[in-house]
Amino acid sequence: MKSSSNQKSRRGPRYISDLDYDDNVDWLGLIKLFKTEKKPIKYFLLATLLLLGSAGFLMLSAKNLGALFGVIAQKKFGSEYILLASVFLGAEAISLIFQYYGRIIIAYSTTQVTLGTRKKLIDKINSLPVAYFDSTPMGRTLTRITADVEGLEQFFSGTLPKVLSAVVQIIAVFIAMLLSNLKLGLIVVCFTTPAIFFSVFLRVKARAVYREIKRLTAGLNAKLAENISGLTLIRLFGLSDWTLSEYRGGTNSLYRSHLKLMNLNAFVMPTIVLLCTAPLIFVFGFGGNYVLSGSLELATFVAFVRYSERILSPVRAFSQEIQVIQDALASSERIYHMLNEPPETSVLGEDGHVQQELAGKIEFSHVFASYGRPEKPILKNISFRIGSGEKVGLVGATGSGKTTTISLIPALYQIDEGVVLIDDIPLNHWHRETLRQQIGYISQDVEIFRGSLRDNLLVGRSAHHFASDQEILNVCALTGFEKTLNSLPKGLDQILLDGGKNLSVGERQLLSITRIILKNPKILILDEATSSIDPHSEKIVQEALNTASLGRTTLIIAHRLSTVTACDLILVFHDGKLIEKGTHEQLVKNDGYYAQLARTH
Ligand code: ATP
Ligand code: MG
Repeated sequence: MKSSSNQKSRRGPRYISDLDYDDNVDWLGLIKLFKTEKKPIKYFLLATLLLLGSAGFLMLSAKNLGALFGVIAQKKFGSEYILLASVFLGAEAISLIFQYYGRIIIAYSTTQVTLGTRKKLIDKINSLPVAYFDSTPMGRTLTRITADVEGLEQFFSGTLPKVLSAVVQIIAVFIAMLLSNLKLGLIVVCFTTPAIFFSVFLRVKARAVYREIKRLTAGLNAKLAENISGLTLIRLFGLSDWTLSEYRGGTNSLYRSHLKLMNLNAFVMPTIVLLCTAPLIFVFGFGGNYVLSGSLELATFVAFVRYSERILSPVRAFSQEIQVIQDALASSERIYHMLNEPPETSVLGEDGHVQQELAGKIEFSHVFASYGRPEKPILKNISFRIGSGEKVGLVGATGSGKTTTISLIPALYQIDEGVVLIDDIPLNHWHRETLRQQIGYISQDVEIFRGSLRDNLLVGRSAHHFASDQEILNVCALTGFEKTLNSLPKGLDQILLDGGKNLSVGERQLLSITRIILKNPKILILDEATSSIDPHSEKIVQEALNTASLGRTTLIIAHRLSTVTACDLILVFHDGKLIEKGTHEQLVKNDGYYAQLARTH
């Protein structure tokens, strides 16, 4: 992260781009990405052959033009003239056709690479362990699938065909020159090569400014996104002026960088044109002299002038695309790194084979867990046993490890020591997908996707397990979500916004409870599922949950002790340890930590 040095001086949250400034330019990333797709390589070779053919025909046309001039100089306008003119036109046309198909085939084959990359990245996101997203900023993951893949797309569909045909043309021109007249050819090659290197050098120099523009634009976009999502907070804290001045500062810097780039471009392009046209002076100077002294034929001379002209446009095209090439190389390196992140199967162990229906027994035996830092355990030596169909409450102070404990049951995180058994089978013997499908987990943060209410309610049901509207309405009536449903103008077809912004926090919790009951899981896990619901509605939900929990193992985390007093077992957590367990009556009688909690409630 190169820009970290100036982060401290900047106020406010860090920009997405700051979090993601790894821009190694490495050809290997691109080659490795390409190597993963077999078919495109064949097409790519075919396209290169076509481009070579195209360059060959261009050279033929240039040579013919020379011969044509020879014939014109001798005032012979007969059949030889017609033949040469036709070959000239024909060669130009064939070269164009070859070029057209060459470029199309490259674009076609490389589109497959980018599409494949997009698919692989999305598959990757599905296979990465949850812990990966705890330690990776969301902006970085999004950039991989959006900006980085788009950078590759731009490179493959536009730049690569242009650059490849430019390089092939430059090489073909050089070879044609050297073959037709070694001395004059060497002069042109010697003068043009430094011009090509110089133009590349200038472009690489311009990269710093390009990058600055990209960084500033990404920063401004991130700022804008923050402003919009945090609009309420900004208004409440009266921060409008502050955000405006931050934004203005950003746009001013962007303006200055754009001016710098325009200045640089105004200098670079004419310089490249000058450097590439300069060899023409030598062609005319030396070549003209050779023609006059009779050591060079007029035809060869004319062909040479034509060859020299042919150098300018490929060099210019090449230099214009250097920026895209560098960006694509950096993008492919980053994409390659993400694709190589260890998947869930290697972090949590290979997927097991057990694919049976759950009875709902859960056992923790001397479990230690941390979030990837075993030297700092979050859970310390946790052991308990829950029978099938039992109702268990988990209580304890904030940060005592309740959520961490229950997140181990659907195998969301790795266990450092000990074992978790579900139905007496170790967790890692279970087929994870099968296990997770039978567990209903309501987390502290309710996830609501943009889409219809119906889709949001059925999110936990597989396609072959579809629920009719009547079935949905019955469950809604049971959980008390019916009231909210009736107030929505379009009912089940109502479109919910991302995160369920058009619902209240309590309504979102009711939705998630309804959703879980529709899923019909064997193990029900409720993490503060009723914390935002008003006391009256909570009573309805509690009753619904009581009905719903019949025949299922239910784990309830609650700060309000009244929610768990009726449980078969209460687990009391303190600082990552399980300090007490028993029924409400037993724990009160014990007069320990729980009894103290009960007294203060
Ligand atoms: P609360 O009642 O506030 O929900 P909790 O008992 O559920 O608290 P946990 O969420 O299990 O507490 O957190 C226990 C400890 O683990 C906390 O100190 C927290 O800092 C740490 N922790 C929680 N989630 C993560 C994570 N994803 N990565 C790293 N550490 C985490
Ligand atoms: Mg918690």
